[in-house]
Amino acid sequence: MIVVPFYNMIVVPGVTFFFQSEYFQEVAGKKPNTGEDVIFLMLKEDKKKEDMTAEDFYPIGIAGVVDTLDKEGNIGIKAKHRVDVEKIEINDGIQVEAALREDIEDWSREELDQHYEEVKSAYLNFIAGSRWGIMARNYIMQWNSVSEMAATLSYQLKISNAEKYNIIQQDKMSDRVTLMEKALYEFLEMAKLASAAQTEQEASHEQLYREDAIKKQMEYLQRELDEMHPESMSDVRKFEKKIQESGMNETARGEAAKVLNRMKQEGQNSQEYGILYDYLDFVTSLSWKSEEPSEIDLGKAEEILSQEHYGLKKVKQRILQQIAVMNLKKEQAGSILLFVGAPGTGKTSIGQSIAKALNRAYVRVSLGGVRDEAEIRGHRRTYIGAMPGRIMEGIKRSGASNPVMVLDEVDKLAKDYGGDPSSALLEVLDPEQNSTFTDHYMNVPYDLSNVLFVCTANTLDTIPEPLLNRMEVISFSGYTAMEKLQIAKRHLLPKAMESMGVKNKNLKVSDAAIQAMIGDYTMEAGVRGLKKCMDTLCRVAAVKLVKGEQKSITVSPKRLPQYLDQKPMRHDHILKEKKPGIITGLAWTQAGGDILFIETLFTKGTGKIIITGQLGDVMKESVQIAVSLVKSMYPDKAEIFEKNDLHIHVPAGAIPKDGPSAGITLTTAIVSLVNDRAVSPAIAMTGEVSLRGGVLPIGGLPEKLMAAQRAGITTVFIPEENMEDLDDVAEEVKKKLQIQPVSRVEEVLTGCGI
Ligand code: ADP
Repeated sequence: MIVVPFYNMIVVPGVTFFFQSEYFQEVAGKKPNTGEDVIFLMLKEDKKKEDMTAEDFYPIGIAGVVDTLDKEGNIGIKAKHRVDVEKIEINDGIQVEAALREDIEDWSREELDQHYEEVKSAYLNFIAGSRWGIMARNYIMQWNSVSEMAATLSYQLKISNAEKYNIIQQDKMSDRVTLMEKALYEFLEMAKLASAAQTEQEASHEQLYREDAIKKQMEYLQRELDEMHPESMSDVRKFEKKIQESGMNETARGEAAKVLNRMKQEGQNSQEYGILYDYLDFVTSLSWKSEEPSEIDLGKAEEILSQEHYGLKKVKQRILQQIAVMNLKKEQAGSILLFVGAPGTGKTSIGQSIAKALNRAYVRVSLGGVRDEAEIRGHRRTYIGAMPGRIMEGIKRSGASNPVMVLDEVDKLAKDYGGDPSSALLEVLDPEQNSTFTDHYMNVPYDLSNVLFVCTANTLDTIPEPLLNRMEVISFSGYTAMEKLQIAKRHLLPKAMESMGVKNKNLKVSDAAIQAMIGDYTMEAGVRGLKKCMDTLCRVAAVKLVKGEQKSITVSPKRLPQYLDQKPMRHDHILKEKKPGIITGLAWTQAGGDILFIETLFTKGTGKIIITGQLGDVMKESVQIAVSLVKSMYPDKAEIFEKNDLHIHVPAGAIPKDGPSAGITLTTAIVSLVNDRAVSPAIAMTGEVSLRGGVLPIGGLPEKLMAAQRAGITTVFIPEENMEDLDDVAEEVKKKLQIQPVSRVEEVLTGCGI
């Protein structure tokens, strides 16, 4: 008995298989004799002879007999019936013990013939007229059954080895033939697809098998294409892979799988395809990997912070404390910091340095003007144009699950018909809730608990209380002229030069020029305007260098108007003359501090109060209080108030002045007018006043004092309760001012000599 292993063929009873002598000997291991028994055994996978083991074979084999043996040594083996293989032994050759396995002959000879005639004519129809038609026709005419046809074409059929075995193992003749027919029709359909000579086909079979054939062909072509161009893998396969690799949580994976299924069903031409694509693209580009908290080297962190920012001692100290606590608690988020201060004071850029110090990704999300809750929490994915919210969009941009996220301008969140964005933000920032933050667009939770949030704002006034309670406020009070000079020299100028390719030898800016820019060309608490000046100088220098007009440019104060294309600004400086009724006050604005003048005048009238100038509503109330207070302090002057109208004016600065902190200034101005005594313009003051003459604390002291010093004020009255804020005021400013704490308005009046 000869055992012949085979792979990827259809060997079925009733068919004669022909082998070349040499090949047969190679496979079977010996020369056959006519009439010798043969058993065909099917391999599960393609294996070399020397590697085969008993487990490599399927349990049903086919017994046959050597039927013909011609002069050239070609062998014909007729397969007779199937056998159950009971035992396989492999040593020199392969030995098997097998028992007959009955076929169930449920179709008659006629039925079988009829089926074959149909397949045959489908094939003949197809090849009619093709170039190789005659040849193929002769070939086809030799066959007598579906089995013979399938066996002969078995290598070409686009079905797998396992599918071929499935045919062999069918006991019922009808099942076996049906499966073979199916494979043959599919093969034919594929041949048709590939062939230019498409002829009319038998409609019934075509409909049945065409779709399967097309799918298989597509899969096959797609695989080939994918291998050639991994980058153009079809969308579905691409997302399948990305979802697999993303590390998503269970819920997210479920949702993504659902969307992917929809995408498969919809097909590329559907309207919805784009929406589904965008969704999958979004969720698979998020980082779903949770990062382990790592120990931060405090020394290094400190170095990075001080390298990138000049000054800001307290701020840096506070940040280092935060890092130390995070190290101790092995946390990644820590408490939420809120940086408050005027524009350009370094709030955002120090956020970036924190990320660098922690060796984490950085991302900035601007919240200015956000008025719709959906901008934070995302739009539901029910319409075209739905988008994720800014938070998740930021997470995507950062490429990490634990970035340092700077939420810019939290004070500029607006409330509108679209829901309250600040309540959505509350959820983002709440450690109790943010580990399962669910963006409406994503519709699945994402863990934000490892994100380090840093918020920035110009003022605390407009931040809703619950939000403010979540955060630790750190003030950026603005820079003194001396600090600005250092920042310009160490950071702004070198950075501007580098970004514009200007070398050190090409551009020199004298300290005097920088000081002039600080004093006369900018009016700000931060350094944004100064940075713009530096950028402008570098651009001007670049043009001159490229044109070859000059090799090196030196900027002195005299040249500034020409280079900056700008005239020096008129600063609010102290008034030259001293007149009763005019007092210098100090104001806080979003751009930092400023001085203001309050002018009062009596004109003949009937006791009316006239208010003009850039005043907000709160300040108008302060006027009422001041007037009542003065009237009660000087009852003997009642007649003046009755017979005159009191006109109060705050000359137009660019910014509307608001806030109650002009209380003592207004009161002093009215007293000065009533008593007809002038106060020195070099004296300034800030403080809220109560109806009974108490002086109440105010905000923004560092900015106000800086403005006072800049304007040339010598003496400042401040509320007693604000004394502790002096810690935040630069020494340089304190040295130049005589600061007098007061708790009653009378102390101010005495101090002013009225
Ligand atoms: P803010 O967010 O407070 O409006 P930015 O962070 O945008 O201000 O700062 C404006 C510019 O000034 C940035 O280019 C920043 O690098 C620079 N800057 C601000 N403060 C400092 C500082 N202390 N040292 C160096 N550069 C600074």
